[in-house]
Amino acid sequence: MRSKKKSASISKECVACGCCVKSCLLGALSVYRGMYALVDEHKCAGCGKCADVCPAQVISVAAREAAQC
Ligand code: SF4
Ligand code: SF4
Repeated sequence: MRSKKKSASISKECVACGCCVKSCLLGALSVYRGMYALVDEHKCAGCGKCADVCPAQVISVAAREAAQC
């Protein structure tokens, strides 16, 4: 079965400042080797808090197809 789930996505213009990581209460974000932020789509609830705090405005939140068992 497939369903739509909201999730954050980050473009490659991320400057790895880490602000989004601190804002996410679900621990869905991390900065990979100081280079760029990554989203764990399984943890992300699509609340949009990270997008609000990103100084580079590179985070968008949208519904995506998600596979479900
Ligand atoms: S949208 Fe919400 S839950 Fe998802 S990564 Fe951003 S702050 Fe975390
Ligand atoms: S707040 Fe924005 S620029 Fe900073 S690490 Fe997160 S996505 Fe990248």
